[in-house]
Amino acid sequence: MGGHILEQPLPNNYMNQLDPFLLIHHAEWELKGNQRQQEVGIGGHPHRGFSPVTFVFQGDVRHQDSFGNDATVKAGGTQWMHAGKGIVHSERPSAELAQKGGAQEIIQFWVNTPAKYKMEKPYYLPLSEEKTPSIKEENYTVQIVAGEYKGIRGPAKTFSPMLLMRGEIKEGGVAEFEIPSHFNTLLYLLDGGLVVNGERVEKKDLVWFKNDGELLNISADETTRFIILSGAPIDEKITSYGPFVMNTQTEIMEALRDAQIGKMGVLIENFN
Ligand code: MN
Repeated sequence: MGGHILEQPLPNNYMNQLDPFLLIHHAEWELKGNQRQQEVGIGGHPHRGFSPVTFVFQGDVRHQDSFGNDATVKAGGTQWMHAGKGIVHSERPSAELAQKGGAQEIIQFWVNTPAKYKMEKPYYLPLSEEKTPSIKEENYTVQIVAGEYKGIRGPAKTFSPMLLMRGEIKEGGVAEFEIPSHFNTLLYLLDGGLVVNGERVEKKDLVWFKNDGELLNISADETTRFIILSGAPIDEKITSYGPFVMNTQTEIMEALRDAQIGKMGVLIENFN
């Protein structure tokens, strides 16, 4: 086990990234209501060279992009995007949530892409809870968003081998996950408490494993929601700047220029 920290997923004081995972944000807030959609969330902004992925835990997230995609994903679902050569998108609570108010809780994480796939055509997949394959055991449930686990394949397309799961485990539950030994693995707890391979982990702790084990054994002393992000390291030099993750400084300059001259498209949002 690499270690664990409080309230800071990624990057943190111990590491900049755990290849291929670049960043994790866990956000939870209460919308006050009586707002218009354009007043909440994040308006149009570009990305290139990686996949920003959002797991929705409470409320919803509406995604609109410069390729004409427009979808709202509710709690239990996932907004999956591979930015590829460039896309402009917005990420906001739905008009209904902005109007009514209520909780919105998400985890967004960034997955790097191997150099040779960074300039692919952008790929977008809105995934509801119902369309996410899951394994339901007596004391725990896991949803498989990408990669394969126990013969079940998650629907999201990735450009390097990985296994991305989210789940819930009830107090007293015990679960064991087999993970390829060459994968880097992160486990993050949204709440509750777990014992992970013998070590006690609190809510908002991040636990990571650098190629050092095939078995992840968890037992819940409190009911908790968790995510497991696991993937083969890409092992390439990264240069990132704001919403762009490339390999060289020249590619970052190109990304800035291409975004400015409209090569990543134009997003005109709908607010109905
Ligand atoms: Mn974004």
